[in-house]
Amino acid sequence: MLPLVRTVRLHDTKTGTLKELRPRDGRTVGIYACGPTVYDRIHVGNARPYVVFSLLKRFLAHEGYEPTLVANITDINDKIYDAARPAGRPSGELAAEMSDHYVADTDRLGIGRPDHEPKATLMVGEIVELIQELLDRGHAYVADGDVYFRVRSLPEYGALSHRDVEQMDQGEGVEGAGLKEDPLDFALWKARKPMEDTWWPAPWGEGRPGWHIECSAMAEATLGTSFEIHGGGNDLIFPHHENEAAQTLAARGQELAQIWMHNGMLEMGGKMSKSVGNIRSLADVLDDVGRDTLLMYFAEAHYRQPLVFTPERLEDAARRVEGIRNAGRRLVAGESPAELARYRDAFFDALADDYNTARALAALADWVREANSANGPVGDSHAREMLAMLGLENLLDRDEAAPDEVVELAQQRDAARAARDFTEADRLRDELRARGWEVRDGAGGAELVPIGP
Ligand SMILES: [Zn+2]
Repeated sequence: MLPLVRTVRLHDTKTGTLKELRPRDGRTVGIYACGPTVYDRIHVGNARPYVVFSLLKRFLAHEGYEPTLVANITDINDKIYDAARPAGRPSGELAAEMSDHYVADTDRLGIGRPDHEPKATLMVGEIVELIQELLDRGHAYVADGDVYFRVRSLPEYGALSHRDVEQMDQGEGVEGAGLKEDPLDFALWKARKPMEDTWWPAPWGEGRPGWHIECSAMAEATLGTSFEIHGGGNDLIFPHHENEAAQTLAARGQELAQIWMHNGMLEMGGKMSKSVGNIRSLADVLDDVGRDTLLMYFAEAHYRQPLVFTPERLEDAARRVEGIRNAGRRLVAGESPAELARYRDAFFDALADDYNTARALAALADWVREANSANGPVGDSHAREMLAMLGLENLLDRDEAAPDEVVELAQQRDAARAARDFTEADRLRDELRARGWEVRDGAGGAELVPIGP
């Protein structure tokens, strides 16, 4: 077996320090990243953890680890009942439809799928078993068909989010307030209610699981306990991740995960607001800017930092994509010169140091600058190796076929010309150019060509 290439350190929210990645068996790395609750099309902000953890997995594989990525789909949740009811639809049908949209929307990112995508509806047996264990150990209690976690029964509670128990609000409002022994307690199971159209059997009565216990059960079912990395957005640290950690520790006497890794939020700039509030769906954003620009936009910031979502930032990312594509056209297929290896090494060292994609991009830019100023042809192997970590190896493809959205724009332009709407046709031509494509009108009709150096 090949030795591991680099020691990887990642910021752990629980200890507040950089922690060395130490796989349980030396090589395999389990990553569990909390996925979406499927009550609507996913927001572009939900794409950030999807991209961060999918590409982190690629980097770890490059370094000789054997990573497995699990990203769950939460398809039992209050938000789903709340969205289905006014629409007059069965909640299961809405969740299934939005799950399919989530898969289709994230497929458009072109970075592959997680190894496992468990759904809560298919793991109710595991969830019930875990709740039973908490009841048996005295960490949970039944109240009128609901089951609650007894927070003060676990001294370690609060260790992840660093909150004093007295200052915690589970965000459950008045729901179950009269049934809880202590306002700090949170729901593991909610008894069947007249306005909820799905329920499952359990020894303590029909109902459905709470959100936090779903993730503890799905993570354990796919990766075991004490797995290497648990990830998600930093808005999930409390209560969701605190509760996940507490449930597993209380039921199994084992930590759920070794490293808790959290990405910063997207901050929606005022100017981007188009329809309702500042919400932008991933599908809309992909329609507007394409996946290359969106992946570059995410890579330009360290994953822990908040990231503003503004047209300017997206334009910066589009320019960087175009710069690399242009530089790529001057490269030739083959080995890169040894004197450029230090930039390639700096790129991977940056990723090993708390997955710093911003610093890695600076090293890539140095490599490109040096390659551009070289005399004679430069082999592209380093650039390919680096870009693959960002999901952007396609920027070096020479005879790439036009992506679907580009073909669609070209067709719209044809239609505008046929309708003699030349203003619109020119606008579409400019939009195609902005994406690196040109329509050349020949005898056999219009042809799409990538813009040359
Ligand atoms: Zn979760």
